[in-house]
Amino acid sequence: MKYTYLIKYAEIALKGKNRHLFEEALVQQIKYALKKLDGEYLIRRMQGRIYVDMEGNVDGDEIVEALKHVFGIVGICPVINLEDDDFDGICKAAVEHMGAEYPERKGLTFKVMARRARKDYFKDSMEINADVGEAILDAYPELKVDVHNPDINLYIEVRETVSIYSRVIPGPGGMPVGTSGKAMLLLSGGIDSPVAGYMIAKRGVKIDAVYFHAPPYTSERAKQKVVDLAKIVSAYTGPIYLHVINFTAIQMYIYEKCPHDELTIIMRRYMMKIAQTIAEETESLGLITGESIGQVASQTMHSLACTDEVCHMPVYRPLIGFDKNDIVEVSKRIGTFETSILPYEDCCTIFVAKHPVTKPRLDVIQRHEENLVEDIDRLVQEALETDEVIVVR
Ligand code: ATP
Ligand code: MG
Repeated sequence: MKYTYLIKYAEIALKGKNRHLFEEALVQQIKYALKKLDGEYLIRRMQGRIYVDMEGNVDGDEIVEALKHVFGIVGICPVINLEDDDFDGICKAAVEHMGAEYPERKGLTFKVMARRARKDYFKDSMEINADVGEAILDAYPELKVDVHNPDINLYIEVRETVSIYSRVIPGPGGMPVGTSGKAMLLLSGGIDSPVAGYMIAKRGVKIDAVYFHAPPYTSERAKQKVVDLAKIVSAYTGPIYLHVINFTAIQMYIYEKCPHDELTIIMRRYMMKIAQTIAEETESLGLITGESIGQVASQTMHSLACTDEVCHMPVYRPLIGFDKNDIVEVSKRIGTFETSILPYEDCCTIFVAKHPVTKPRLDVIQRHEENLVEDIDRLVQEALETDEVIVVR
């Protein structure tokens, strides 16, 4: 069976001259989503519309599910697409559509919403509304017309081809990935950072990621969990280049040389520095973290100010004003939650002090970092050399 969908996209349409670039990116992302399914697809761009045809060993639900992962799509409409604009054919298809989509139609109300983009068509939209409505009522007398508040809006668009649809399945919205540059996500195994990456990608930003691994204190399973999270996020963002950095020596050195209640902050500062170096080398324009004000000691305003001080590129923290519950809700919706809560150790928690500073002072932190001066540059360099790039898709 062949399935056809009309793809609705809103925000992109506002982009004037750049519109075709946005459509191009959207088509690329749709391809990425459909490629994983077992079937042949065709994406057609016509008069500011995108249609997807697909057939093979897939059903409509799988196709819709894949399309729900494509940022930029606001609506997915199962559609009947007619090459021929013969009016009897339109009426017949409209009747069939209503029959197939609404098997339980007793008592439902509808309204035909025709749009004639081709002004040379022999009926205007009012006439199409009236005549198609009549054909439907003849076929299904149990339906009623309600022009003010119908249960079903039946859309008929007369363009190069004729489209008939009534259901608009919500897409994720946002902008297609690839329209807005690239950023480097600091991805840990927790709940927050995958959500943060998702949110920034939703604005059209391509994502790379970096994970700081601390073997043997953190296990291979903890690393695999991060790869798994990246994979779930990549269903929305496209392929993610995940950089795995061995952070153990730096962590141990800080532990040895600095006050333990400042460990997390100092560690976080080195993570940011290293992430920034990789970001620069790989043309990312900013960093992304899953931080939110006050969530833990290292995320108070004071702590964030200390962390930020080592960064000269913008740091995007899309969850900054979110409560944990809100973040959990998003992570459940996008499918990362179940993986995030697996109980594997996290490199940040292993050496964490019982009472970390909540109001670190930058000058004090900087003074304590002077204890590291002997070896830290070398250790940072060596950590960068451990960079293992995993392409997650
Ligand atoms: P998450 O749920 O994302 O792990 P969290 O609430 O556990 O966040 P922290 O552990 O304080 O918060 O980390 C804050 C942010 O720092 C994370 O959201 C992530 O962006 C980054 N981060 C922390 N640990 C790592 C790590 N091991 N590798 C890469 N980034 C990390
Ligand atoms: Mg964490």
